[in-house]
Amino acid sequence: MAGIDENLAAEFEKIADPKELIGTIVRRFGDRAAIGTSGQLTGTVMIDLAVKAGVKPRVFTIDTLRLFPETYELFDEIEKKYGIKVERIQPDPAKIQKMVADNGEYLFFDSKEKQAFCCHLRKVEPNEKALDTVDVWMTGLRVDQSNSRAGTKKCEIILHGPAKRPVLKVAPLLDWSEKQLREYMAANGVPMHKLLNWNQDGWYYESLGCVICTTPIGPNEPRRAGRWRWFNSLEGDDKECGIHNNKTHKDEV
Ligand code: SF4
Repeated sequence: MAGIDENLAAEFEKIADPKELIGTIVRRFGDRAAIGTSGQLTGTVMIDLAVKAGVKPRVFTIDTLRLFPETYELFDEIEKKYGIKVERIQPDPAKIQKMVADNGEYLFFDSKEKQAFCCHLRKVEPNEKALDTVDVWMTGLRVDQSNSRAGTKKCEIILHGPAKRPVLKVAPLLDWSEKQLREYMAANGVPMHKLLNWNQDGWYYESLGCVICTTPIGPNEPRRAGRWRWFNSLEGDDKECGIHNNKTHKDEV
């Protein structure tokens, strides 16, 4: 679609209120705009804000086929509460079958390369499939989630697919803290992922992805230490799966 450019990014950047921003985007782009969520706090808050803005947003999730049962339960709850469909975008079954046949089910333990390969097939490719259908992608990225996300902009043009079609990636809750999100959810009855309320002796889930690859973190650990825990000693490991890696969008896709 024409009109995805820096002027649009600058126009949306000026809308400080996330409810107004999400409402404006959905009204203007309809089904060509979508919220991508993995069931974390920002995803459900964005959906709630959209509904409060008077729109029914299109919502998708990347279903790696290895998500926690509680994640699927949350999506069912969201669908029921808001009367919307959470589109579950899954990996190519033939590619997964081959990957497992060649490398085993648990290849991600072997090396960063094999973990990245698994994430590419189960997460990045389905995400690209979802992006094929949108002009505006609303994400739940926040600056306080990890060091590698500190430079994230609220509105950013990414170049998608072999044709390098511009897609506007918007993070409406970029500056919200976890405390703000939890307070908003409690005050507004927003469905919460059960594992995000789990706490045992100070250990808790900071973020949620696939089973095995996601573990709770201890009181003094970095926020993404629970992801691929067996790689924690690797220097410079940014703990990203590739979905939010701009290099991926610009150079590989
Ligand atoms: Fe594969 Fe683990 Fe990445 Fe999920 S998080 S796609 S199981 S490597």
